[in-house]
Parts: sequence; C-alpha cells; structure tokens
Amino acid sequence: MVNRNSLDANIGSISVNITVGSIITEKADVIVNSCPSDMRLDTRPGLSKVMYDAAGNGLKTEIDKNYPNGIKVGDLAVLENFVTKCLVEANKYSVKSIVFPALGTGFLKFPPKTAASNVIKAIRDFQTNNAQSSVKTVKIVIFGGTNDWTSIEQAYVLELNSTGQGATASAAPAPQTIPGRGTRAYLAHRYQEEPTPPPYWTHFKSNQTIKDWNTSQKGSHCKVTSVDTKTYQSIAKAFKSTGGSTIVKIERIENILLYEKYIQECQRTFRKAYVTQLCTPLQNVKKSSGPGLTVKYLDQEMTKHLHEEINELYLFHGTKVNAVDVIIQQGLDSRLASSGLLGTGVYTAETASKSAGYTDQNKNGESKMFLMRVCLGDIFITTQMTKFRRPPCMKCYDETCIKHPELFDSVVAEFGSRREFVVYDRVKCYPEYIITYK
Ligand SMILES: [Zn+2]
Repeated sequence: MVNRNSLDANIGSISVNITVGSIITEKADVIVNSCPSDMRLDTRPGLSKVMYDAAGNGLKTEIDKNYPNGIKVGDLAVLENFVTKCLVEANKYSVKSIVFPALGTGFLKFPPKTAASNVIKAIRDFQTNNAQSSVKTVKIVIFGGTNDWTSIEQAYVLELNSTGQGATASAAPAPQTIPGRGTRAYLAHRYQEEPTPPPYWTHFKSNQTIKDWNTSQKGSHCKVTSVDTKTYQSIAKAFKSTGGSTIVKIERIENILLYEKYIQECQRTFRKAYVTQLCTPLQNVKKSSGPGLTVKYLDQEMTKHLHEEINELYLFHGTKVNAVDVIIQQGLDSRLASSGLLGTGVYTAETASKSAGYTDQNKNGESKMFLMRVCLGDIFITTQMTKFRRPPCMKCYDETCIKHPELFDSVVAEFGSRREFVVYDRVKCYPEYIITYK
C-alpha cells in the first residue's frame, strides 16, 4: 500500500489535494463513496441520509437508473453530475471539507485521464458557480493498493496543472509557473523545461537556454572563472571543516557542453522519479548514517540550487594534478579510472580529508580537488566491499539482473570511517569548482 501526498492546488477558493493511500483513514466533514453502503459521514447527525439521497444513492444507483444498458466511455457526464451533486449538497449543509475516492477508476474502469478531467471539471464549474461556497477543501484519495495507482495519480496531477479550459485541455503544465518543491508537478516541470545555465554562473549567463548558448557562441565552450567572496567562504568552510588544509585558490568551471550532459541526466532522473516513485532522501535510505555532510557547511545560497528531489549533492573528488586540465574540458571519465573498493566508477566523498587521499602535488607543493555536483538519484547503500560494474537492480539487488528495468543510480559505501559515493556513469556528475590547496 502506497501512501503519499501527490499535489496541492487551488481552484479558486477551494484547496484541492490529491493523495495516494486509503480513504478509510481520512478525516473530513464528509467522505463520499461511490458505493452507498460504505458512505461514511462522520461529524453531522442527519447529514448522512441527506447526502445519501442527494448523491442519487451513490454513483452505482445513479448509473443503474439512468443508464440501464450500462455505461460506455463517452457517457462520462454521469461522473461529473455525481461530483456536482455532492458538492452542491455539501454546500447546503455548510460542509467545509469533503473527500472523494478517485471516482470512476474502480469498477467503472474509465480511463484515468477521462475520469480525472471530469471530476476536476465538476470542481472547477462548482467553484465558478458558487464563489461563496462553504466548501474550502476537496481531497481526492487514490487507492494505493492497486497496480495502476500511478497512472491515476499522473492523470489527476496533469489535469490540475492544465489550464482548465474544458475537459480536453492540454495536459502540459503552464510554462511560466514553477510548481512547489517536493510536489510531483515539480518533477514533471523539471523534466519538461528547457534548461538554462545555473543563475550564479557569470560567463554563460542564465538569460538564455543552454541550447541557445551552444548554437550561438563562437568561442570556447569552457571558461574557468573566479568566484565571489561569498561562494569562496562557503566552499572554504566545507573544505576546512572536513579536513582540508590551506587553500590557494577556488575557481568555477563553466563548461556549457559538459553541464548540458549533466543537467539532461538530472532531467532523466526527474522523469524516473515522476513515473515511478520519489527518490528516498540519503538520510532515509536503509543503513544510512545521515544526510550529506557538505550541505551542513556550504552556504544556503549554494545548496538551494541543488535538486534535492533527486538526491543531488556537492561532493569532493581528489585527482592527480596532471589530470585536471582534461577533466575541466571533458569531465570525469570512469571508463579510464582504476578499480576501487566499489568497482570502476567516479568516487566522491563528503569530507576533503577522504578525497585528499586520491591527490598528488605539483612542483610547488600544490594539490587539486574538485567540488562536484553529483546526481545520486536512487541510492544503494552497501556495508561491504563489492566490485560493482554498475549499480544493482532496484528490485532484486542483483548487479547483473536482466529481469527488471530499474537500476539504482549510485552506490554509497557505509563502512570504514568516512563514506564514499560512487556513480558509474560519467554524466551523473559535474565538476563545478576546483580547489587548489597546499
Ligand atoms: Zn532485478
């Protein structure tokens, strides 16, 4: 049984909430059920019978009466009428909150999109015609115990994000509004948007899209820039607080081609989260010892740009001095790396002291370390040394599984004194800052 809050939206003065779970646990003035014997009307004696009658003895009875030969797709007005009747009656009795199941998707087997658009249209029309209604909250509970709850949830989310211009309105979210963080609509938005460079970049500015930059600019696709004082102090704090030594300089790598690959991978991860399930945050993954340490020290001005919905973190990566230039131009390449404790991948750490173990020094005694954006996505935690060639299967945990489609995105080693974070695909990390230190 899945339980989660999918979307909060407003239709005029009515707050509409879509939830996956069980209607049995809901609390509201009125809980509607399409099967009248199950109708539960909790708080108002006498209202039960009224709602029961008003709703035409339930959706089933209404269908039996008005559609004696059975209902076909296309006769969907019945669903809309049922919802409207319930809302009108609720308003008569000054009801404030009402809960519906995802009507029509159960025994009626309506396609999710059609059912959702009819239910939402009924709420929109009711709001338009009853601006002063007592009904302030409408909750729709999608039963989380079936196989098809995701498609029903998706249908409701898309319908609520559509313009509402009729039941066949485009399902795409309005482009100018960014849905709230943590909502499923936000995941869809991030997947669908045309990405721009990060807003704090100073050479490749975010006033045009990455694609525009990559087709218009003539010079190099890569620029190493200086950072402002606040960014410097933020990174210096994370570096020094986790065992780093004396900093010589901190620079930002603005590599528009490399960033494009990375952000596209982030978008794929957003899509995966949208159609399957939200990534479990690092601190909540089984056997995890807590959230990423760098987030604790980095300034909020930096961390607010991380996509925490897909477990994106800033992590350190130590490397040899003579590898730095090629990494700046082409990014990390796990295919050329030598195999570590967790196999052949890109190794990153939340402590500078751990990453320092992978560095060397130039003739001036200076070492180089990257602070990278890493898209950990769905995280697999291991407590023992395992030579992975890729992350294991999300269903059976087998690295070589050929039965299931979804793999974890990253592996985190929760053994030894300091964690390591490994991705096996080079596009899952972007080396954004380079720290030169002694
Ligand atoms: Zn498997």
